[in-house]
Amino acid sequence: MTERSVAVKLASAQAERYLEDLIEIASIPSISTLPEHATDVRRAAGWVCHRLSAIGFERVESLPTEKHPVAYGEWLHASGQPMVLIYGHYDVQPADPLDQWRSNPFEPSVQGDYLYGRGVSDMKSQLLAFLEALELTRQTGELAVNIKVLVEGEEEIGSPSLQSFCVNERDRLSCDLVLNTDGGMLAKDLPALVYGLRGLAYFELQLSGPDHDLHSGMFGGTVHNPGQVLCELMAGMHDSAGRVTLPGFYDQVRALTPEERADIALAPYSDEEWRRMTGVPELFGEEGFTTLERVGARPTLEVNGLWSGYTGEGPKTVLPASAMAKVSMRLVPEQDPDTVERQLRSYLEQNAPQTVRWDLKRLAGSPPVSMRRNSLAMQSAAKALQETFGRKPVFTLEGGSIPAVSILQSVLGVDTALVGFSLPDDNIHSPNERFYIPNLSRGVEAYIRFLNHISTLGEA
Ligand SMILES: [Zn+2]
Repeated sequence: MTERSVAVKLASAQAERYLEDLIEIASIPSISTLPEHATDVRRAAGWVCHRLSAIGFERVESLPTEKHPVAYGEWLHASGQPMVLIYGHYDVQPADPLDQWRSNPFEPSVQGDYLYGRGVSDMKSQLLAFLEALELTRQTGELAVNIKVLVEGEEEIGSPSLQSFCVNERDRLSCDLVLNTDGGMLAKDLPALVYGLRGLAYFELQLSGPDHDLHSGMFGGTVHNPGQVLCELMAGMHDSAGRVTLPGFYDQVRALTPEERADIALAPYSDEEWRRMTGVPELFGEEGFTTLERVGARPTLEVNGLWSGYTGEGPKTVLPASAMAKVSMRLVPEQDPDTVERQLRSYLEQNAPQTVRWDLKRLAGSPPVSMRRNSLAMQSAAKALQETFGRKPVFTLEGGSIPAVSILQSVLGVDTALVGFSLPDDNIHSPNERFYIPNLSRGVEAYIRFLNHISTLGEA
């Protein structure tokens, strides 16, 4: 039996200890957004550093950033082998609303096959799984690859310090590939590999007409109402087929290949379930695409907020001086926020009437991310997941964005595999967050296999 298969055997034998360790780290309320928990956040960073030192990692440090520290450690003794940077986060979302929890969010409790507590699924179970995988591999032999570990404390607030941290620490973090452990599965026994995340371009549009609110009886019919103009402009941004009408909006959009469409169709999913989840009377979207394609592979434009005129109780016959909309686009490869901003501006130049002035502000922008499906990182992850769960992982595209993925990929210029074991119904960010306990030791196994495959497939 090879050392590596010993480690995998041991992984499943130690399930009870993993659970104890998970309960320990999940008991620390490391809520990154709340200043009163800053000490807990530092305590969680310290916990990770302590574990890394115990495994025999070197240069272990809690590195300061503008806000919360990054826990870092490395082991660089596999000469000639690839350098893997493992990314995770130790911070969690607030537990509110507390009265909807059936148990204390920071006293994790076992109920059946699940552990309940804030952060158990997102993502302290994954954090623990890769730490245990490193420890077990070290105990039964030597790590097959060189490893750097970066665990941040700001993921749940959008990773505001990560970009500058990575730029400043580029040398320390240099690597051949990234294993991002903040991923998930499609079902208990169905692993997934995300290979694309949508980007975002977010704007605020302000229209102004008269220089003060007017009496609608005295001036109505003679002055163009900014509220009406705003509605017409917003309505004109989609056509009747659900397509976005900004000039050139689809020019950069990469078309799905037949293989990708077949893969997306493999995910367990039904329109009826989607309808039930959202509570709408009927689904809506761009013609010619399935719901999952619309979510992951197609760009969208959404009104996030509309405001104009009088919104209090009872009538007020006002012709408002201004109107405002928050509008954002989810972007797919190869779109980018700058180009989309130009497209939105040219739509407004062509369509806004001379009767109002408009002002457009960009509030946020991040490019979409795509990960090469045939990279060493992705192939090693696919193999490790298949061996662990007995099923090929499904390649998926995700609708949201994970800043850390795009930051690490762009600053370090390397491939990423996004691997994790949380489930769609784990209630992450919600009351009664939970983690399916059997996937803790499977997670350890999968990470051990992943590191091993990086070494062996890397040689091929
Ligand atoms: Zn989260």
